[in-house]
Amino acid sequence: MQTSASSAYQNHAAADSNQPAYIGRFAPSPTGPLHVGSLFTALASYLDARANNGKWLLRIDDLDTPRNQPGVADAIFKCLESFGLHWDGGVYYQSRHINDYEQYLTELASRSLTYRCDCSRKTLTEQAGDNKPGIYPGTCRNKHILETASHAIRIKTDESVLTFHDGLQGQITRQLNLEDGDFILKRRDNIIAYQFAVVVDDYLQGINHVVRGCDLLQETPKQIYLQQLLGFPSPAYTHVPLIVDAQGYKLSKQTLATAVDINKPEQILFELLILLKQNPLNELKKANVNELLEYAIVNWRSDALTLQQIVAQ
Ligand code: GLU
Repeated sequence: MQTSASSAYQNHAAADSNQPAYIGRFAPSPTGPLHVGSLFTALASYLDARANNGKWLLRIDDLDTPRNQPGVADAIFKCLESFGLHWDGGVYYQSRHINDYEQYLTELASRSLTYRCDCSRKTLTEQAGDNKPGIYPGTCRNKHILETASHAIRIKTDESVLTFHDGLQGQITRQLNLEDGDFILKRRDNIIAYQFAVVVDDYLQGINHVVRGCDLLQETPKQIYLQQLLGFPSPAYTHVPLIVDAQGYKLSKQTLATAVDINKPEQILFELLILLKQNPLNELKKANVNELLEYAIVNWRSDALTLQQIVAQ
């Protein structure tokens, strides 16, 4: 199976003349406040959408309830607003779309594309042996585990090769059955897995351009695979570099990245534009948030970002 994300989108757009030319999104998980790395991604996707006269939607990826932190979604809204990153329409919360995920899960199950899996974490580690952990060997494919037993739901992968063109990283090719194995759509704790939710959400929100961090680059073929199975158009994808610390680790809650200081948005915005390789003019150091964004939208060059990692100073 070969695909080109952008051509799939073009076909879809041509079929629907009401479809705006560009609908992008930012989809943070409310597991911690925005740090400079997540704001960098938000800014890149915002600028790319606005420079293309597009819409920019906001989604809160709040399905992983044990990891959600109370009050964080509000802190994210406040942070985006203080940086002038205003989104279009209301906020889409994944937790309000459980019925949609279940509906598409039922559809895949009725086509025998999924199966129940009761492998424990321990079994999975033992099964992996010397192989790379994470590639599921299909142990439960033909076990016909009862619905009443505690189980995860996996999608069957096959030997087809998925190829897509990333806006910055070029051609990405992956053979899911060898590199990922049958992956999880619904976890054993009943939580819908990220891979599956994101595909349904992007479809329901009409997203046709995804700009996000490079940490999700290798996940994208799984999403394209699901889109193809469900007959959804694939968005165009652009994976921007990650901001890493001096040790090369992605800034995250685990690496104790500090929350962005919303009291100094101009200074931080200016620095982010430098990190985004947009060469902001020196005189913009005194500009306010709106002037900075206006300049950045008009002069946006998405192709300036060639790397996969940028070290935070
Ligand atoms: N919620 C995901 C994250 O915070 C991003 C999802 C996406 O952009 O597809 O890493």
